[in-house]
Amino acid sequence: MFTVTLDRLRTLSASTRDFRFTREDGETTRYEPGQFFRFVFEDAEGEFDRSYSLCNFEELYSEHLDLVISRVDGGRATRLLFDCEVGLRARVTGPFGRLTLPATLPRRLFLIATSVGLSPFMPILKALETGLNEAGDCQVVLLLGVRDRSEFIYGKQLLDYGQRNPWFELRLCLSREPASAGHERDGYVTAQLAEFDPDTTTDHFLLCGNPAMVDEAYARLKVSGFGPRQVIREKYVFAREKKAASKLSDEQKKLIAEKMKKYT
Ligand SMILES: Cc1cc2nc3c(=O)[nH]c(=O)nc-3n(C[C@H](O)[C@H](O)[C@H](O)COP(=O)(O)OP(=O)(O)OC[C@H]3O[C@@H](n4cnc5c(N)ncnc54)[C@H](O)[C@@H]3O)c2cc1C
Repeated sequence: MFTVTLDRLRTLSASTRDFRFTREDGETTRYEPGQFFRFVFEDAEGEFDRSYSLCNFEELYSEHLDLVISRVDGGRATRLLFDCEVGLRARVTGPFGRLTLPATLPRRLFLIATSVGLSPFMPILKALETGLNEAGDCQVVLLLGVRDRSEFIYGKQLLDYGQRNPWFELRLCLSREPASAGHERDGYVTAQLAEFDPDTTTDHFLLCGNPAMVDEAYARLKVSGFGPRQVIREKYVFAREKKAASKLSDEQKKLIAEKMKKYT
């Protein structure tokens, strides 16, 4: 565990901000591009934690932890983070998660995200470009789902990245605005999958963001013969949902225990 201080915050869109935290111990953060950390914040009600993917792109490994966070109505972290100032402190644990590059790059690597689910793919793209992980013959496709262009965070960086790297293809999928530019498509990211004719012998998928998108994309890939080793999933499930789910399972456990009593 280490402590960080907020050094910089910027507004990226109406609902999204990026946050640069700096480690107070000055150490370089060890992680694999794509992993997330758990941040313990403190507000008037006490301490609480939330998970955030590292979105470092300018500098992959340093004392800085870059996060991109989207606003959630009524959210506790949202209340704190969208009304805070430089100097905010947090305790951090990690890294966690398996949403990372495979040891051997496939012929085609698909990065599929909705909204801030893009976060973990920024350091992954940086790693691919800087040759830490040789792109070789690997074709990299980023399918990014947003409602409209105002949500296309890191747009300039991604378009420039495409210019620099011929092995990279970006498709921005717009669900509430008609597509017009060459890299834009109408509708959801999941609708794009069929166009690539996914092939279990050449393809590897990393999915991140909205749980419904992750489930739907995985369901479609399963039909083409893909399993969990070729489709790594990270759902941005939310804190209260997690609590609700564990409460439910306790109740279920109680019910099962009561039913069992009848048979003993
Ligand atoms: C592994 C992992 C990595 C994550 N990385 C990121 C990241 O990089 N950037 C990021 O912004 N978030 C990320 N999240 C989500 C993040 O951890 C918080 O859940 C999110 O910031 C909302 O926290 P909150 O305290 O504001 O809302 P909460 O207080 O947790 O939720 C408030 C209410 O809103 C509902 N809700 C929460 N989010 C949404 C939503 N998007 N749409 C609809 N309803 C919602 C909840 O069910 C709840 O009822 C990640 C989650 C996980 C599990």
